Amino acid sequence: MRSEPLTYRGLQLDLARQTESREYIKSFIDFAAEHHFTTVGIYLEWKIRTELYDVGEDGYTPELLRELDDYAYSKKIILVPGLSALGHCEMLLKDPRYQHLAELKAGDLNRFGFPVAHGHCLCPTHPGTRELLEKYFTICSKIFIHTPVFKIGLDEAWEVGYCERCRKGMKSFADEGRIYAEHVLFIHDVLKKLGKTMIMSDDRIDFYPGILDRLPNDIILCAWLYHRNTCSYLTHFLNQATNDQHKVYEEKGFRYLCLSSDYYVWGNIETYTAYANGRNPWGLQVACWEKYEILAQASFPALAAAGEMWNEPGLPVREAWNRAVRSVFRIEPSDRLIDAILFYSEHEMSPRFYGKKIMTSFPFFGPDRKSRYALRMALQTMRDFLDRVPDGEPRFILENLILNCRFALLNQDINLHCWELLKHQSPDLPEELFGEMRSLGRDYYAMISAHRRKDQAEEVLGKWQAREKMLNDFRQDALHAGRVRLGLALPEEWSTMYTSIRIRTAGGKVLEIPFENLKQGEFFLFEKYYFIPADSEIEEMEITAYGFAGVGITWIEALTDRGRFVPEKVLESSGLVESPEYLLIEDAKFAFFGTRDVFSEFEDRAKGLARHSVRLKMRKEL
Ligand SMILES: [Zn+2]
Repeated sequence: MRSEPLTYRGLQLDLARQTESREYIKSFIDFAAEHHFTTVGIYLEWKIRTELYDVGEDGYTPELLRELDDYAYSKKIILVPGLSALGHCEMLLKDPRYQHLAELKAGDLNRFGFPVAHGHCLCPTHPGTRELLEKYFTICSKIFIHTPVFKIGLDEAWEVGYCERCRKGMKSFADEGRIYAEHVLFIHDVLKKLGKTMIMSDDRIDFYPGILDRLPNDIILCAWLYHRNTCSYLTHFLNQATNDQHKVYEEKGFRYLCLSSDYYVWGNIETYTAYANGRNPWGLQVACWEKYEILAQASFPALAAAGEMWNEPGLPVREAWNRAVRSVFRIEPSDRLIDAILFYSEHEMSPRFYGKKIMTSFPFFGPDRKSRYALRMALQTMRDFLDRVPDGEPRFILENLILNCRFALLNQDINLHCWELLKHQSPDLPEELFGEMRSLGRDYYAMISAHRRKDQAEEVLGKWQAREKMLNDFRQDALHAGRVRLGLALPEEWSTMYTSIRIRTAGGKVLEIPFENLKQGEFFLFEKYYFIPADSEIEEMEITAYGFAGVGITWIEALTDRGRFVPEKVLESSGLVESPEYLLIEDAKFAFFGTRDVFSEFEDRAKGLARHSVRLKMRKEL
């Protein structure tokens, strides 16, 4: 195991999904410097205000970024910009001047069969794309003068080779990889001319493994793995195929960066660190993704602990947390406080609202009951410590942790109470649930107002008000409407399988439940509810699915004022459906729609769009 710390120990702040102030970014740089980091990545996409493209006041001026670059350097921190050059270009592609550079235009179907609202991916073969990128990177190289590396997001570019121009030169899936590789090579050469080394995300290499032999090995590969327990390399959306990709990079002479994130749980940072300690990476980094409606401060104890572990390879995790809590809160570390923050951080480090899904999707065995109590205890412990930590930054961080812990608890409570209502275990949703939603919305509004523009805070408050309405709508439906219950098996973590239901009722009326990706969290087996008119008398149901990785359906039924309607017989099945007869029995056996093999659906685009369906005759249960 390594005994010396790696030179590249980074944090990354998302400045694209939300706009932060000069002071806030500086305080983030200060934090990184104090906790043994050497690099701060700022994820910008197209938010730099240049004459090429200007997003407006949500962007950052070259002068501000120049100032931050110098500021970081004065603190012995290298500022590394994160720029988009293929996917994640929706901001830019909304500009009428660049719409012709989009691989897919509004209304075109994407790889997953959905019409896109606007372009997301640049066309890699359009000469205008190259011209624009070269100009953009040239401007950036004059802003970020201290960094030897630029991080170019070439990740999640799902639609390479979709436009007419690209398709012309394509014979097979291999050409998709070739187009991608040529784009990477172009960017590499531009950056090289500008004196910058390129860091790129490695997820496309899962799909185009052959390109590694074409890429110069001075490109630094950014391996991003965000799993709760990271003990091997798991491919991104390729049936979780396990490769020893880091070993492959080492054998081929590539340097690579191990990127964990605060987007899910602390365990990701801890386990990826342990895994990376047994390999030979070039650097380590944690990304603070998407802090649109929360602040990154709640992650500070965990980030500080990462800083300690990376600065002293082999340092026990608990000792890293002791040191982190001492320096972040300026108090003697307490086991109670550490356990409380760790529990919250292992539960949901960057809580977010999951929309209607959290009210209508549940694990097969029902909601997690135990973590609510543990979250309550964690919350109480953090509150107990509020008066013990000094005012200013330490108190502010703890207040943020408390808010996020309440958010995580609210998510749990919504899920449990909605389940109880649907399962007739309680007559209604408790009023306190609505009260906490309102109160949390107001508290986030106050917290965010203090750090961001007023209109940004108001947008967040508006979101909370919309959530309250969503919960209220759910309550009305759950109390008064009929419902359809669907049992699901979705093993692929990145599943993009879309499922729709068509219901024929007595009198020939047809109800359509539109296509939706039903994957929910980490669950493999779960159930999903839909609401339908209470007076529906069901005669037939047709389930249709398409997409990647397939979907298992264990059961379908409808409950209305007219009775309980269950499958009686399979009338018809089309496309690829394995064991449709399993739909007739209420258990965990599933009929499987589609193919499990994601790669084959990449290779043959028609496979990913093929529809698979089963039509069932329903009977009223007596
Ligand atoms: Zn194209």
